[in-house]
Amino acid sequence: MLGQHAVVLGASMGGLLAARVLADFYQNVTVVERDVLPNDPANRRGVPQGRHAHGLLRRGGQIIDELFPGFLNELVAAGAPVLDDGDFSKIWMSVGGHQLVRVGKVRDQRAMTIYVPSRPFLECHVRRRLSAIPNVTILSGLDAAEMTAPADRNRVTGVRVVNRDSGAEQELTKFFRVNNFIDPPVRLLHPSFISRVAAVNLRRRRGDYAALAAAAAR
Ligand SMILES: Cc1cc2nc3c(=O)[nH]c(=O)nc-3n(C[C@H](O)[C@H](O)[C@H](O)COP(=O)(O)OP(=O)(O)OC[C@H]3O[C@@H](n4cnc5c(N)ncnc54)[C@H](O)[C@@H]3O)c2cc1C
Repeated sequence: MLGQHAVVLGASMGGLLAARVLADFYQNVTVVERDVLPNDPANRRGVPQGRHAHGLLRRGGQIIDELFPGFLNELVAAGAPVLDDGDFSKIWMSVGGHQLVRVGKVRDQRAMTIYVPSRPFLECHVRRRLSAIPNVTILSGLDAAEMTAPADRNRVTGVRVVNRDSGAEQELTKFFRVNNFIDPPVRLLHPSFISRVAAVNLRRRRGDYAALAAAAAR
């Protein structure tokens, strides 16, 4: 195990899949999502693009299936359309006004299997599978408001989250250990998150890992 607790901000596709990977390396993984997550496939505010047509590209589907074995079969069993006979006449696609050919078949039909779940349908199924992993907790309706830092402010140690309904605050700690990173984590953060982290971190040059490791060990 790399550590006791990893916190993932955002329970969209990136956050859900990151949490799945982290679950193999951290004793507990907590996913914090601002939206109140629906139980069923439904569009939500945090993913406005969910209403657009989405394609699940072949490699992306394979990776999700590796992370959650049997996932693609589950999607189809639950009703997601699948094009698995390589028949171009079943596909209508226009890219920049150029319509893709609609006659013939692909040579390697398996390589061209196309799953067509809607975005909320896909996300909902990934979320359900992730929720079933014992060391993963998904908290919804919580806004990640601010990264937290120790008194010397030399690293990020947690995140302050705010309940969107009640306004109640809590701090989720042991967010990142700085020495698990190849670069200071504050460099990766949006400026709005780093108000309490010392500005000195922002000025830290690449490669100053010895100082960082020493700071993390204090
Ligand atoms: C119009 C459009 C069409 C697209 N079509 C495709 C497609 O066909 N195929 C494809 O693979 N990709 C497509 N994409 C890209 C795909 O939607 C994104 O790559 C994907 O959603 C990125 O996932 P993410 O988890 O990184 O971020 P997002 O999906 O942006 O999710 C961010 C999450 O973080 C949450 N959040 C934000 N702030 C906070 C906070 N302070 N505290 C807690 N939670 C917070 C949000 O509520 C949300 O759940 C499309 C994108 C767009 C815009």
